[in-house]
Amino acid sequence: MAGEPMFPRIALIGLGLIGSSIAWAAKRGGLVGHVAGSARSAETLAKAVELGFCDSVHDDPAEAVAGADLVILCVPVGAMENIAKSIAPALKPGAIVSDVGSVKQAVIAAVAPHLPAGVEFIPAHPIAGTEHSGPESGFAELFEGKWFILTPIPGASEAATAKLRAFLEAMGANVDEMTPEHHDLVLAVTSHAPHLIAYTMVGVADHMRRVTSTEVIKYSAAGFRDFTRIAASDPTMWRDVFLNNKDATLEILGRFTEELFALQKAIRAGDGDTLFDYFTHTRAIRRGIIEAGQDTAAPDFGRRPSKPGE
Ligand code: NAP
Repeated sequence: MAGEPMFPRIALIGLGLIGSSIAWAAKRGGLVGHVAGSARSAETLAKAVELGFCDSVHDDPAEAVAGADLVILCVPVGAMENIAKSIAPALKPGAIVSDVGSVKQAVIAAVAPHLPAGVEFIPAHPIAGTEHSGPESGFAELFEGKWFILTPIPGASEAATAKLRAFLEAMGANVDEMTPEHHDLVLAVTSHAPHLIAYTMVGVADHMRRVTSTEVIKYSAAGFRDFTRIAASDPTMWRDVFLNNKDATLEILGRFTEELFALQKAIRAGDGDTLFDYFTHTRAIRRGIIEAGQDTAAPDFGRRPSKPGE
């Protein structure tokens, strides 16, 4: 690439799906000079070297961040505080520190108090992912056309925020800003509560399976298969999301339960008009998502047609 990279040296702490995807996207775009990586296990560090998305790997995160102009914490939400404590003394003055945690208020409370003055903390969250995890699951295109939400805290440097925004946009992402509180409520609706519902539905079917043998799998229609895909997401990540976005998730689950009871009542009462109106409204929401370019209108979400028995 002609010209200077945006950041001569970056450090990624956590080299799973999100960390490795950032590394691939940044390298592909020539956005960074040196990529230093750190993870918990020797296996992940070795895999990062073998796959080639890090220029150096370090079992000590403090060693990885030394001299880095941009540090991104890509570990589960519950691990953020210990990482922040251990890297704080080694951060370069003027460095930008960001994170990709799926919850923002709890991560800010866990990280911000430990960072030294002169370091710019700009919390972030990519609305992009898959149900796969680990260093082999990342790919450069993960963020293309997807949202990255920044939740700057009071007093955040506008220059640092703009620099991080430019980096994320250069990876192909669309960038938006909102308060951490608003982020946590929006994500409780769009991601956290739906995941909990998927986990629950798969749990229910698992109990049924004991009764109906293999029928739940054999005849699983697209609806249930989509639930199983979501419910295959990383258990550590999702445990930490629910423990750290408690209030907003419980608020949305309360509303969900009320709606569920209303539909249950309509079914019991044979109230077809209520059901029809409700489903007409939700169908319009789906159209809106497609028109906004956030999903495909292809049947079965554009997957290949399934074969009988699959
Ligand atoms: P992942 O694939 O499971 O990778 C997690 C990485 O963090 C691994 O390299 C792991 O090291 C390291 N790690 C885990 N616990 C640690 C600890 N206690 N101390 C130090 N390192 C630790 O996870 P991911 O999907 O990339 O998720 C990372 C973050 O992104 C999470 O905060 C999650 O909320 C957020 N996020 C995820 C998605 C998604 O769809 N997956 C989407 C948006 C945001 P080892 O490999 O050595 O164990």
